[in-house]
Amino acid sequence: MEALQPVRGTRDILGEDQRRHAHVVNTARRVAGLYGFDEWSTPIFEDTRVFARTLGDTSDVVTKEMYSFVDRGGDSITLRPENTAGICRALVTGGLTQSLPQKVFYAGPMFRYERPQKGRYRQFHQIGAELIGAPEPLADAEIIALGWHILTALGLAGDVVLELNTLGDTPSRDAYRAALVAYFQAHAGALSADSRDRLARNPLRILDSKDQADRALIAGAPTISVYLTPEAAAFYAAVQAHLVRLGVPFVENPRIVRGLDYYSHTAFEFVTTRLGAQGTVMAGGRYDGLVAEMGGPPTPAVGWAAGIERLSMLLTESPAAPRAVCVVPMGEAAEAAALAVLQDLRRGGVRAEMAYRGNFKRRLERANRIGARAVVILGEDEIARGVAAVKDLATGTQTEVALTDVARVLAV
Ligand code: ATP
Ligand code: MG
Repeated sequence: MEALQPVRGTRDILGEDQRRHAHVVNTARRVAGLYGFDEWSTPIFEDTRVFARTLGDTSDVVTKEMYSFVDRGGDSITLRPENTAGICRALVTGGLTQSLPQKVFYAGPMFRYERPQKGRYRQFHQIGAELIGAPEPLADAEIIALGWHILTALGLAGDVVLELNTLGDTPSRDAYRAALVAYFQAHAGALSADSRDRLARNPLRILDSKDQADRALIAGAPTISVYLTPEAAAFYAAVQAHLVRLGVPFVENPRIVRGLDYYSHTAFEFVTTRLGAQGTVMAGGRYDGLVAEMGGPPTPAVGWAAGIERLSMLLTESPAAPRAVCVVPMGEAAEAAALAVLQDLRRGGVRAEMAYRGNFKRRLERANRIGARAVVILGEDEIARGVAAVKDLATGTQTEVALTDVARVLAV
């Protein structure tokens, strides 16, 4: 029969790949804990309106990338393309807008109908953090410091650069938007079709275009700095001062935008030159308007998301596969005794397997194949004396150990 293939843009994560993936998640989860963040899990699919309402009908995600379908009950469902909307929905659902701030960490799969390429998939995975209910610039700095700490803990401090920008407050952004529209309208003929469309609907988003011709125009576009209100400028200065105090290096990049209307003030990306076109590994910003869009009270918030696949690809060292102890019994009585030893080891926190197939030689080969760090040899003679021969495969030394002592001797 024809072998079935994974759906385009999806992939199996196995072996070393999975160890890298898990290392990213475990590291992020641990560091997020150090900053006082708790983990939340929200459903992988939501009412389509959770995303349509909040991501806005001009964003790429909503216009082109959502996996939406009508389920058997006739409801429009969407596989989550990102998790910020779901977290805000959960905050409102759980009545937690009454107990702010909430500091949330998450990890899990996201789905976007995109053209698959290196570092870009249709099912991909993100870690993310949201600090909800904190209007202060210190919150922006803290959430960025968390991201930087995670990247540093992954050994990636030398591979990424934090690019920082502000989108200002509403009056700043309105003035800036008008200036951008004037500038791009004067060059409309040279814009890509997508960006001409954005010009009418969401001009800030043009700054995020990856089109070559657009990039040239964007280089000459006005920047927001001169349009910032004094309040917005002070907010941005405070974020930067806090970042310095928190030991987070950054560069300013006035081209960083988040395309959605609910974003304000801080916008940032951690970028790398090591992944070709897919150079953004972590992206985030302040989204003071989102919780209200979800039907909650106006609630300030700031957060980021990072692609686990892209982070995994950057790891230079693979986390080592855990090494087992291999129990090798010969003969029926030994096999029976081996099961007790095996469980002793596992209860003692030692990864342990038993080789029970073939002759002695084949069993030792099995121990080698699984990369065992030690073998516990149980023959009729050893069993009779209540001992096992424990051989350390790194040093080659063999010692005799009482059966009841094996787990203790091999404990890590
Ligand atoms: P891009 O510009 O690369 O499309 P984006 O702006 O759509 O990114 P965000 O929505 O900000 O990305 O998501 C945050 C992070 O999630 C990205 O920086 C990236 O690391 C990762 N990411 C986004 N889309 C994908 C995808 N299709 N496959 C793998 N990782 C992704
Ligand atoms: Mg995208």
